[in-house]
Amino acid sequence: MTDAVPPAAAQWQAATITAIIPRTARIKSFFFALPRPFTHRPGQYVDLRLTAPDGYSAVRSYSIASAPDNPGEIELAIDRLDDGEVSPFFHDVAEMGDEIELRGPLGGHFVWSVEDGGPLLLVGGGSGLVPLMAMIRHRHSTGSVVPVLLLLSARTWDDVLYRGELLELARLDNGFTLVLSLTRDTPRRDGDYPRRIDAALMSEVVARMPVAPKHVFVCGSNAFVNSAADGALAAGIPAEVIRTERYGA
Ligand SMILES: Cc1cc2nc3c(=O)[nH]c(=O)nc-3n(C[C@H](O)[C@H](O)[C@H](O)COP(=O)(O)OP(=O)(O)OC[C@H]3O[C@@H](n4cnc5c(N)ncnc54)[C@H](O)[C@@H]3O)c2cc1C
Repeated sequence: MTDAVPPAAAQWQAATITAIIPRTARIKSFFFALPRPFTHRPGQYVDLRLTAPDGYSAVRSYSIASAPDNPGEIELAIDRLDDGEVSPFFHDVAEMGDEIELRGPLGGHFVWSVEDGGPLLLVGGGSGLVPLMAMIRHRHSTGSVVPVLLLLSARTWDDVLYRGELLELARLDNGFTLVLSLTRDTPRRDGDYPRRIDAALMSEVVARMPVAPKHVFVCGSNAFVNSAADGALAAGIPAEVIRTERYGA
């Protein structure tokens, strides 16, 4: 099913980069000021378009990492793919003050707001955390205590995007639980895992939730989403509560 895109969201606008913050060795955050402000739903994304002097253009989608608290500004977090076209441009060339064509907010399926209730099980691989982070930040900024368990896979402790912010939210102990699965590192915290997410790991994590999740969101590469979603099904979660977003290869 194709989401209906409201006309305003389909129009390109020239957004200005207002800040660039390195998050991990491979991921940087880019903050954009929007001349035509919009309010997104947590989980939505925007399209960015780069156009060369000869007219060649490339369009890529990026999830919005920020909560919808400030309609005039959004944060995107972009993972650098060495052989990529668009992501190396942002890491190596883009500067504060640059104008970038952007349209959105887009996507109506992979979204959650506090009114939708919980418990929530969020499963992210690498930069697949980004749309889940918008949901987590939205929950926090509205003062919601809907139970959320985030299962986040990353290569190493240092590759955990938004690590400081996530650890701080987990420390507040108001219904947000963080579980890390590090595929190339040893765990630093009790309850974290030193391996990839599979059916057995997913079953263990689901069993830690006092009440079965009402909504499950899985985001990352194709391979990651396939194994995490299969794991969730094997853990007894009904297919109709599982929503997925795939970032590519
Ligand atoms: C809805 C949606 C939201 C997205 N949100 C984000 C986000 O928040 N942050 C983010 O960093 N990316 C996100 N992506 C992925 C993003 O759109 C681009 O695909 C990515 O940045 C690569 O673009 P590129 O031009 O650098 O590489 P390309 O030139 O498109 O691809 C280079 C090579 O990398 C492979 N490849 C493409 N994407 C990936 C990937 N994700 N992982 C591994 N290999 C890949 C391609 O097959 C190709 O071989 C999202 C994608 C979708 C569909």
